[in-house]
Amino acid sequence: MTINEYQTLAMKTRNKEMSQKDTLINGVMGLCGESGEAIDLVKKHLAQGHPLNQEELAKELGDIAWYLAETALAIGYSLEEIFQMNIEKLKKRYPEGFDQEKSIHREE
Ligand SMILES: [Mg+2]
Repeated sequence: MTINEYQTLAMKTRNKEMSQKDTLINGVMGLCGESGEAIDLVKKHLAQGHPLNQEELAKELGDIAWYLAETALAIGYSLEEIFQMNIEKLKKRYPEGFDQEKSIHREE
């Protein structure tokens, strides 16, 4: 499955009655909410001694992917475009791979 195939399949389950604006709002709120669910699993592991439930964390990453797909759709981007833009940014920032000095003194 390609990332754009994922986006198409995932977006079959979105509420198509929502406006573009509501889709955007739902997307970014969902990203925050699902990221919070992921953080909570790691918090319970690190601060409360729970075993890290990697399968649950993987499911939350999937939920984040769903809302990423929806947010991208709301602004007219495919996931492939979003991912490609990110890789281009990272190639510029770290042409030889991660560099602490470049991280501390970022030009952007
Ligand atoms: Mg979730």
